[in-house]
Amino acid sequence: MNYPQIPMYINGEFIHLNRDSREILNPATNECIGVMPCATQSDLDLALESAQEAFESWKDSSPLLRSDILRKFAQLARERSEEIGRWITLDQGKPLQEAIGEVKVCAEHAEWHAEECRRIYGRVIPSRRSDVEQIVIREPIGVCLAFSPWNFPFNQAIRKISAAIAAGCSIIIKGSSDTPSAVVAIAQMFHEVGLPKGVLNMVWGDSDFISEYLIKSPIIKKVSFTGSTPIGKKLAALASLHMKQCTMELGGHAPVIICDDANIDKAVEALVGYKFRNAGQVCISPTRFYVQENVYHEVVQKITQRTQKIRVGNGLDSQSQMGPLAQTRRISAMLKIVEDAKQKGAKIQTGGDVIDGKGNYFMPTVISDLTNEMDFMNDEPFGPIIGLVPFKTVDDVLLEANRLPFGLASYAFTQSLENSHKISRGLEAGMVSINHIGLALAETPFGGIKDSGFGSEGGIESFDGYLNTKFITKMN
Ligand code: NAD
Repeated sequence: MNYPQIPMYINGEFIHLNRDSREILNPATNECIGVMPCATQSDLDLALESAQEAFESWKDSSPLLRSDILRKFAQLARERSEEIGRWITLDQGKPLQEAIGEVKVCAEHAEWHAEECRRIYGRVIPSRRSDVEQIVIREPIGVCLAFSPWNFPFNQAIRKISAAIAAGCSIIIKGSSDTPSAVVAIAQMFHEVGLPKGVLNMVWGDSDFISEYLIKSPIIKKVSFTGSTPIGKKLAALASLHMKQCTMELGGHAPVIICDDANIDKAVEALVGYKFRNAGQVCISPTRFYVQENVYHEVVQKITQRTQKIRVGNGLDSQSQMGPLAQTRRISAMLKIVEDAKQKGAKIQTGGDVIDGKGNYFMPTVISDLTNEMDFMNDEPFGPIIGLVPFKTVDDVLLEANRLPFGLASYAFTQSLENSHKISRGLEAGMVSINHIGLALAETPFGGIKDSGFGSEGGIESFDGYLNTKFITKMN
């Protein structure tokens, strides 16, 4: 089956020592495919000590050296994308081609940071006196702590690790216990390309214990988390109590606005293909589809027909377009949402149930005629369900789209310049994608507002969370 062993990585060493362990399950079969060691307090102390020691020299390293290491990593990731992709399919469930694609895209993230770290510029501020020089420099923030999730186990981890390493920080990462293989691959590759010991440390185990212990440590200067809004709020509260910088990439509930002047076929094709990627377990997944009333029935019909063509199966089967959900708890969450919508009068156009078998398979689902009293319209489904609601005017739909506390991704399809302008300005979201799906590129900022968090990953904004600003004024 070729699933890797899961060690910790501390101070440049892979630690395979006996620890309490947890089973790793394949969501396509619910069979155990490996075990993961749980860090003890002394493992965490060692990781802190090694990250602090490494930071003392890494902060002064040449950007050329950092750039070189990140480029070599990217090259290796591309070369190994098939093998790592297979591991990701085994523990996360997504189709193999999606998993391989995730690894290749991550090579781009590493390269982007490799390029940008050579441009971490300061500035000179004109002084009021000729004998005074005023400059601003940007310095690495220190030892960072990152928690990456299970939906894009490689992508979410490499964004944090690349930004930290490129900025001159050291980092301790805890990936998701459900999908550890991708983070292990990342540590292995950085080790091979010569990242100095201690710059990257990887630990596993109990999330509450690890986050409580590490966030409180005076060694940690920054916390980066991708995951649910409730956990993000808990970690941000703890981090602020100890005055730690945060980047929080949390839940979303992306609105999609389809106006009656849109190219409907193009919109349906782009949206349905994107919706069922990673079985909808994506924080920027298109979710609440608001469709202008005179094209509503046409759109419901076309989306349903297109959704019925999605082939669900084991991610290792090349015919599968959607794999299992990553955990059995996601199945319960989907069933609860569907049941609530049904009871309150929504129409299940297709899907809405589990697919029999050993794995966590759920049918690609379309629900129409939803109302704001239904769970779907309020709680992030984080799964393969499209919900449709009609709207009258663009002003009405903006109020609805902005009704929820989330503000991550949003989408709109219209051929009117006026609508496009009004919608892109009116949506309360960190990202707006109009007439195509164009988010999450290495060179563009990715992040949310409101309950979806703060801070950006990607784009030149990526470094903001990893650098301190220092003002220096000197008199001759
Ligand atoms: P959850 O709220 O239990 O956990 C969310 C994530 O936080 C997981 O990756 C988990 O490992 C981590 N986590 C939990 N407690 C933690 C702690 N004390 N310290 C550090 N990390 C901790 O939810 P779940 O069942 O794993 O996932 C479902 C929900 O999570 C979804 O509804 C979605 O909103 C959210 N989610 C979002 C993203 C994203 O990309 N923004 C990714 C994964 C999950």
